[in-house]
Amino acid sequence: KPRVRFAPSPTGYLHIGGARTALFNWLWARRTGGTFVLRIEDTDRERSTQQAVDAILDGLRWLGLDWDEGPEVGGPYAPYSQTERLAVYQRYAEKLIAERKAFACYCTREELDAGRKRAEAEKRQFKYPGTCREKPYDPSRPHVIRFRMPETGATTYHDLVKGPITTPHDTLQDEVILRGDGVPLYNFGALVDDIEMKISLVARGDDHVNNTARQILMYEALGVPVPVFAHLPMILGADKTRLSKRHGATSVTAYRDMGYLPHAVVNYLARLGWSHGDQEIFTLDELVQHFDFKDVGATAGVFNPEKMTWVNHEWMRKLPRDEVARRAVPYFRAAGLPAEDGEKLRHVADVARERAKTFGEMVQQFRYFYAPIQLDPKAKDKFLTPDARPTLQAIRDGVAGLPALETAALEKLFQDTAAARGLSVGKVAQPVRVALTGGTASPGIYDVVQILGRDETLARLDAAAK
Ligand code: GLU
Repeated sequence: KPRVRFAPSPTGYLHIGGARTALFNWLWARRTGGTFVLRIEDTDRERSTQQAVDAILDGLRWLGLDWDEGPEVGGPYAPYSQTERLAVYQRYAEKLIAERKAFACYCTREELDAGRKRAEAEKRQFKYPGTCREKPYDPSRPHVIRFRMPETGATTYHDLVKGPITTPHDTLQDEVILRGDGVPLYNFGALVDDIEMKISLVARGDDHVNNTARQILMYEALGVPVPVFAHLPMILGADKTRLSKRHGATSVTAYRDMGYLPHAVVNYLARLGWSHGDQEIFTLDELVQHFDFKDVGATAGVFNPEKMTWVNHEWMRKLPRDEVARRAVPYFRAAGLPAEDGEKLRHVADVARERAKTFGEMVQQFRYFYAPIQLDPKAKDKFLTPDARPTLQAIRDGVAGLPALETAALEKLFQDTAAARGLSVGKVAQPVRVALTGGTASPGIYDVVQILGRDETLARLDAAAK
């Protein structure tokens, strides 16, 4: 059974790209009956914060990407935060030192900087010259631990997404694996944890391709099996540069706050770089059933917010009406509108989801169901004219006299009023619409009356007919 992981560095919110990496791992675990591990790579102590950890967990939870092992849920390889695992890295480093596969380096920063300056002056790339390779290990002296890289030959591995990748060893150097304070560098920390946590497939962003040969050499030095690697192409913005804030919102929670459905975000992210024929809309079950790293494209996907909005709209229309209503509540509330999960909101949601592509749009377009209308001056001048008063009055009186606001009864009222006044039903409906909603675009007028209810309808018609 595969064991996969998502290993975010908690230095900010959950980015769309990170969410996709997490999703692909999660889908693979769920498809194969494997295990999805969440590990926090917080070794960059300056930039890591608990707030960022919380934001990432929050984002994953909102998307529904539950982890089988990791923070909060624990698991057999706890703890799952790297700063709590320093003893483990130390143990692995000691083993490598004992086998002369790693060594303590006592070079000072000044010495290394001088070497770097010389390389710069000679216009060559600086490479650690192996100064301390043969020095005995003296833990009492200030030192870092470096991995002894082979100088000849090459490492080739087969990436599930990118195919075979070869790295000549002469491009590598004896890199630092453990700092003087016992904190591992990324390559070593991630690899030790992947070994300890028995990760069999490492799927991560392709900014780590260059780390892979180096990690493979360390797996081999430790005499443990090398996992399978899948490097996922970066997500790009419309201008084909790496997706960043310049392209709009890039955090998962920003999309939550704008009123996207978590499943729509999952559906869209799944399709960003992965395909299954030309199908666009997938249920979660379908994603779990079909996802395979083999079908992840080797070229970068372009993040298209309009398309994500389209996917969201598809799902808003597909979901049961009651669920749309239930999910709309917090968005109306956040806008200060007293919506409650009940029959009224269900009716609002049912008609609004045809026009609103997100909950944010829904609240913006349909505030008038929960707040006084904001009368559009143009619509007022055009439709709430003295001529319209008798029409408004007739509808007002009709609504007041109806036993119940049933669609058939309302239809008849509008038809009769139109006939009596020699107008089309549309001409009757338009001033009523402006009076009830403040503007000229709205769902069907009978729905509007039913949603507002008798008292509110009468009050708004009275105000308009004054
Ligand atoms: N902490 C690394 C990152 O955020 C994880 C890379 C990996 O998955 O190995 O990029």
